[in-house]
Amino acid sequence: MLTQAPKGTSDILPAQSGKWQYLESLFRDICSRYAMKEIRTPMFEHTELFVRGVGDTTDVVEKQMYSFDDLAGRNITLKPEGTSPAVRAFVENGIYAETQPTKLYYITPCFRYEKMQKGRYRQFHQLGTEIFGSASPMADAEIVSIAADMFEALGMKEIELRINSVGCPECRAKHREALKAFLADKFDGLCDTCKGRYNKNPMRILDCKSKECQKLVEGAPMMLDYLCDDCKDHFEEFKSIITDMGIEYVVDPWIVRGLDYYTKTAFEFVSTKEMAQGTVCGGGRYDNLIEQVGGPSTPGVGFGMGIERLLLLLGEEGIALPEDEGVDYMIITMGDEARGYGAGLARKLRRAGKSVQMDMMGRNFKNQFKYANKIKAKNTIIIGEDEVKTGSFSVKNMATGEQTSVSADEIDKL
Ligand code: ATP
Ligand code: MG
Repeated sequence: MLTQAPKGTSDILPAQSGKWQYLESLFRDICSRYAMKEIRTPMFEHTELFVRGVGDTTDVVEKQMYSFDDLAGRNITLKPEGTSPAVRAFVENGIYAETQPTKLYYITPCFRYEKMQKGRYRQFHQLGTEIFGSASPMADAEIVSIAADMFEALGMKEIELRINSVGCPECRAKHREALKAFLADKFDGLCDTCKGRYNKNPMRILDCKSKECQKLVEGAPMMLDYLCDDCKDHFEEFKSIITDMGIEYVVDPWIVRGLDYYTKTAFEFVSTKEMAQGTVCGGGRYDNLIEQVGGPSTPGVGFGMGIERLLLLLGEEGIALPEDEGVDYMIITMGDEARGYGAGLARKLRRAGKSVQMDMMGRNFKNQFKYANKIKAKNTIIIGEDEVKTGSFSVKNMATGEQTSVSADEIDKL
């Protein structure tokens, strides 16, 4: 074999694509109930869109981006997430000047140079939503509600919504100082990455996966205790609206999202089972991002849900998605004349919206039948010399064995 798929990528094979299509169409359907419109942005962007001037300190931006120079020397990055490109499109196309809010969804591959693990890949796929233009906790609540609707529609029970507030730049500054003071005498015990985070963005230390760092941050000051009045009110209202919506949640003061642009609400949907990659959906509010990208000061909130992780969790819960249902008709023919007649009939049926299979492997009569069973044909039609002559044929329902005679002018009724 010449080569294999690059590490961390996978093919979605014909046997699996039905599940993907099912999840995607469920997501589209739910989004449309919230009057969300789809946005499709390019697979790559100028690198500065993700790096920005402020110096993002997250793993995604510091270590995981697929960045390269194109042939004209422009630095390009394969999109690691969907929010920044949607923001760029919103600003570039002047959508902010239209009536707000702007409610968007997308289905997109994302690229991150990560260490491969179950549920962690280098090309993965996200279902994403964004609401731009509303500072109201109503927007946060609708975003969370869309994700909750997805899990509910899929019948998932072992999943929990965890919420937190990461405050705004003003109140975060106070927390930052308190956190630094708390960690000062623990600095030597931190991992190298966190030593670097200590001055740049100490809050990220709370999110470190290393066991040593996790021990050291036990008892650290919580952002929730430092919220300013505006952030506190926002969080209280958000909780009250989702409660009214009938959405259950737990407050988890340790949630720090994986991207630095978040403000106020941060949330995750996490499997209640002990598992390594249990976070299936993450999101929150980012009231300064649109301005950072060069647009007018505009609030925003959204989430990203990993499709691979969603499939993993569905598997864990033993939930099977609807299987490939098989074709409506298999037309079985004997001889060249019958084959031509069958091909004409197949085209008529397909034009009428039916799915039809015919043999193209030179199978004999018996093997065409076997094949009809294999592909789970719901009905078979046999065309021989007589059928060609009379123009009528019989349709056999494979589930019941019932046969119906159909004349040429009755085809429309099939
Ligand atoms: P994690 O903590 O697992 O690294 P994250 O905080 O980096 O996640 P986000 O940037 O919030 O994740 O992305 C949203 C969702 O996309 C995640 O909740 C997860 O379901 C999915 N996701 C993120 N990175 C990967 C990956 N490398 N492979 C598969 N799915 C991923
Ligand atoms: Mg990550």
